[in-house]
Amino acid sequence: QLRRTQPTTIPQSSALSRLLSTLAVLEQREGKLNVSSLAAVTAGGKLGGSVIGFVAGSGGKAVAEEAAKVQGLEKIIYVDNAAYDKGLPENYAPLLVENIKKGGFTHILAGHSAFGKNLMPRIAALLDSQQISDIIAIEGEDTFVRPIYAGNAIMTVQSTDNTKIITVRGTAFPPPATEGGSATVEEGVDPKAECPTEWVSENLAKSDRPDLGSAEKVVSGGRGLKSKEEFDRLMPPLADALGAAIGASRAAVDSGFADNSLQVGQTGKNVAPQLYLCAGISGAIQHLAGMKDSKVIAAINKDPDAPIFQVADVGLVGDLFDKVPELTEKLKSQ
Ligand code: FAD
Repeated sequence: QLRRTQPTTIPQSSALSRLLSTLAVLEQREGKLNVSSLAAVTAGGKLGGSVIGFVAGSGGKAVAEEAAKVQGLEKIIYVDNAAYDKGLPENYAPLLVENIKKGGFTHILAGHSAFGKNLMPRIAALLDSQQISDIIAIEGEDTFVRPIYAGNAIMTVQSTDNTKIITVRGTAFPPPATEGGSATVEEGVDPKAECPTEWVSENLAKSDRPDLGSAEKVVSGGRGLKSKEEFDRLMPPLADALGAAIGASRAAVDSGFADNSLQVGQTGKNVAPQLYLCAGISGAIQHLAGMKDSKVIAAINKDPDAPIFQVADVGLVGDLFDKVPELTEKLKSQ
């Protein structure tokens, strides 16, 4: 029961579809559209009705023009103001609420990202609605499916709120094509709300590898690797041989083997690559919560009873200090 089948498209009458209107909140970083936030567009498409994109920040119009090419969007509303560059919820929330009130939308969707998780509860409070978080499927205009207890149970919720405020799990709603769309672009209202919070700085981990959240292949290491030296000796060559991103369990991160931006799981990243290959990871439910939607799961563990083998499509029982270098060499010689 741990691995769920793909969500289905909901049946909609065409009369109902015409009444629905969804605002998909899109993220941008330094004037570039963040493709992972387009999960909100895919989810909006499953609801039916019109899907309008919203983007704010400096160069908002240029990002809106980029977003206009995304398939499935009818219109993009943009606000061009550097005050919204970092997505601080203190001023972004009043901005979004003004535009929601103007547009009279029935559904407001954002990704279940740090930005969405920070912003949407404020929107819900300001509109006196109950937020619905981290949905993985849509069963009707008011009925949504979301995992609870680290993905161990699936809950179906029905909302009677006039405006539904929702965050969507990216791995459940793959982004639409970013070319071929022809949305119109329109300037939104800017209330220029005062912001009591000042953005000071950020330190971002830089890597030439594929982004963990959207990589096609992920290799992940756990406490079984024993030390940072062994993690760094074994995991990067395996990732390079596969062209994969590197992930880690929380135990590996907490032990200092890997940076915490690499953590996969309930309190880390959600990933759903074509291949998730893990070594020295036991398969705790909190880890499975972040990777069990992967298309193929392969696991190396010396313990044949490790829970990871209950979800793995391919399992190799053995010592990872032998098996990982052997696998890496075989992949390199292909
Ligand atoms: P272990 O459970 O210690 O497993 C190590 C595995 O390595 C064992 O199965 C062992 O057989 C195997 N092994 C050892 N040596 C070798 C060898 N030489 N060759 C092959 N195999 C070997 N965990 C996460 O990963 N992500 C999260 O987001 C997360 N969030 C959490 C949130 C909460 C609220 C809580 C309470 C816990 C969370 N955890 C999370 C922690 C989780 O419960 C586990 O403790 C953690 O996932 C264990 O990591 P691990 O599998 O690397 O280590």
